[in-house]
Amino acid sequence: MKYVIIGAVAGGASTGARLRRMDEQAEIVMFERGAYVSYANCGLPYYIGNVIKDRNKLFVQTAAGFKERFNIDVRISTEVITIDRAAKKVTARNLLTDEVYEETYDKLVLSPGAEPVRPPLPGINLPGIFTLRSVPDTDTIKNFATANSTKKAIVVGAGFIGLEMAENMHELGIEVSIVEMAGQVMAPVDFPIAAFVQQHIRLHGIDLKLNTAVSSFEKTETGLKVNYNNGLSEEADMVILSIGVRPDTKLATAAGLKLGDAKGIWVNEYLQTSDPDIYAVGDAIEFVNPITGKSMSTFLAGPANKQGRICADNIVLGNKRKYKGAINTAIVKVFNHTVAATGVSVKNLKALNIPHIVSTTRSASHATYYPGSHNLTTQIAFSPEDGRLLGAQIVGVEGVDKRMDVLATLIQKGGTIYDLTEVEHSYAPPYSSAKDPVNMAGFVAENLLNGLFKVSYWDDLELHQKNENSLLIDVRTEKEFNNKTITGAVNIPVDEIRQRLDEIPKDKTIFIFCEIGLRGYLAQRILRQSGYQDVYNYSGGFSLYNMMNMERELMAQYQKEVEMVKQNQPVEELTA
Ligand code: FAD
Repeated sequence: MKYVIIGAVAGGASTGARLRRMDEQAEIVMFERGAYVSYANCGLPYYIGNVIKDRNKLFVQTAAGFKERFNIDVRISTEVITIDRAAKKVTARNLLTDEVYEETYDKLVLSPGAEPVRPPLPGINLPGIFTLRSVPDTDTIKNFATANSTKKAIVVGAGFIGLEMAENMHELGIEVSIVEMAGQVMAPVDFPIAAFVQQHIRLHGIDLKLNTAVSSFEKTETGLKVNYNNGLSEEADMVILSIGVRPDTKLATAAGLKLGDAKGIWVNEYLQTSDPDIYAVGDAIEFVNPITGKSMSTFLAGPANKQGRICADNIVLGNKRKYKGAINTAIVKVFNHTVAATGVSVKNLKALNIPHIVSTTRSASHATYYPGSHNLTTQIAFSPEDGRLLGAQIVGVEGVDKRMDVLATLIQKGGTIYDLTEVEHSYAPPYSSAKDPVNMAGFVAENLLNGLFKVSYWDDLELHQKNENSLLIDVRTEKEFNNKTITGAVNIPVDEIRQRLDEIPKDKTIFIFCEIGLRGYLAQRILRQSGYQDVYNYSGGFSLYNMMNMERELMAQYQKEVEMVKQNQPVEELTA
């Protein structure tokens, strides 16, 4: 048998290595357009930021190493330019010598990855505007950032890679602005989780412009001017474009392979394309999301590597292993915060009309009496029918990853909030509490589902504030209340609530909040068992509300600045 693989990084290299482990006799040829194989794309931003100091550490394998260990014939700097499906052969061009030649195959695997989006904006091809995908991109960005004594960089797009790049440029001592077209950073998470990240980014002196899109780039004497669609503009020495990627389907399309609804290469459950002799894996394909049932692509290393293994097994053994799809489990470090997500976001659940309940809990990353704990904010979404988990997002300083992995595993296996209450975790004070934040998320969700308490959400608040039939109670201490509260709230601390029931009318809808939700829950249980039925607790408590409110105020302030600029008035007047 002869196997040919196109693309020799995450999915391709993984497929090749497994093919060899499964079939020692086969001839395996792997083409790679770039000069490097199986390198650590995910480490590239950290090499730029000097966190990874040794460039060699980025290279997991070499072409020679593949030959030696796996007897795979790797052709680097060689691009496959066409696939002739009828003759079962590919045509390749050696990019160093320009030699063009053909290679036949019995089975072909496509793993060409994704390509960065580069919209046709005026000035987009000016020097100093970069995208990051490969090792040469990395070298170019790093050289430019260091050799041109770059002082200011603009990162366009606040997705995972944009945020990593912003942090790493900042690590190089460069002033960084982030510009994002959406109203929040990190599209895969919901606004309440993104708000924490936004606050944290600004704390590090990074200017964040939301709801702002680039309209054009201009060359200046010293660098670049970036013009925005709201009339603002900004100068910088360099620009990193990280506004997303799309499946690289050029070869597949030219070969007449079927594409799917999400514009990725269509594959069946065995990762086989519309041509039975061609398989495909990685960023270039699309598959059915097991939660939504909709077709999607995912641009993550984990799925690409795991698909490679399944694909190789199916090629060698005949289609025996089904790919069950990925649920978009992702994590990113943003300075000393970590944010992670899995499953479907609340905004997507809403868009897809999938019934769901959302619960946000804030609990300590480890026992609070042991030094150094921080609150983790955990948002879960689950089915009101049976408590099946649909999505989860966490932001915090420590221990985000291990909680996210538990949640992702449960979601992948069709787990419920009841499973969360039973998760048995490893516990000692430096690592967790006897009830882990994952258990806490389950307990709260279980109480919600069983009708033990009801929640209200930060974005409902204004409705309640305006409603004469509502009473908003801050059950925190008098000191906390006096420090800052929500407009219109009265203060009845949880420890006094039993004695002050006469201050709470039974004919009103009661909305309770505390700092993170726990005291509010206790207060609600007291009221519910004292004859009050219409009682709601704010999910995530005052801390979440406050965070959201600060974000909204900042956005309003920014909109005012934009208006001032439109009217040609000095922005300073705003703060006067
Ligand atoms: P790739 O790994 O991109 O490999 C595709 C290869 O195919 C390329 O090297 C390309 O040169 C080659 N190729 C394409 N067309 C041809 C052709 N016609 N002929 C020959 N060769 C061809 N994912 C995570 O899960 N976590 C992270 O932290 C993370 N960080 C990332 C950071 C950066 C900067 C980048 C760029 C990506 C990151 N990713 C991360 C995404 C992850 O790297 C990808 O999901 C994964 O590499 C996809 O694997 P793939 O095999 O589909 O594509």
